[in-house]
Amino acid sequence: MPIAKVNEAGDITILKHIYFECTASCSDCCRVNSIPVTEKDAQRLLDNGLEVDQFLESLSPVLIPSTNVKGGFIKAHMLKKKPFVKECVFLDSNLLCKIHSFKPLACRLYPFAVRKSDEGFIAIIHPDTICTFIDIDVKEAKSNTIEIVQNLISLLSLE
Ligand code: SF4
Ligand code: SF4
Repeated sequence: MPIAKVNEAGDITILKHIYFECTASCSDCCRVNSIPVTEKDAQRLLDNGLEVDQFLESLSPVLIPSTNVKGGFIKAHMLKKKPFVKECVFLDSNLLCKIHSFKPLACRLYPFAVRKSDEGFIAIIHPDTICTFIDIDVKEAKSNTIEIVQNLISLLSLE
């Protein structure tokens, strides 16, 4: 669901007023989501002291179908889940992220995501979100869409 358009100059046009605040303590997304790890994510993990062995053990290679590339698939890596409990390998026993300050971009954007557009990008509520803490169609006075989108812009500018 689109919440705002952002042009190349960084101007924001709100499409939907929402209110969201992550409780961080539920960690439902760390149990359910499949997290892609980009090359920049990988570099950040290694730059922040993750041992190479631990880094390699935390990833699963996957092929993602794509009509945009020759061969029809993109090679990618996803964060592994722990066996049996099926939660992210970096979720600790207190339900906190062990790599919080340098976690993959997808984790930092969640429960939102961005799609490229001709003008810049569109900020959306992640299509697979399981987060139940997003209030949709709130009154403008209660909305924090603008802060959410500004945060997405700043996260993307760091990439
Ligand atoms: S499911 Fe939503 S509220 Fe819970 S940790 Fe994830 S983003 Fe935060
Ligand atoms: S890396 Fe951290 S925030 Fe991302 S899914 Fe794993 S535990 Fe959750």
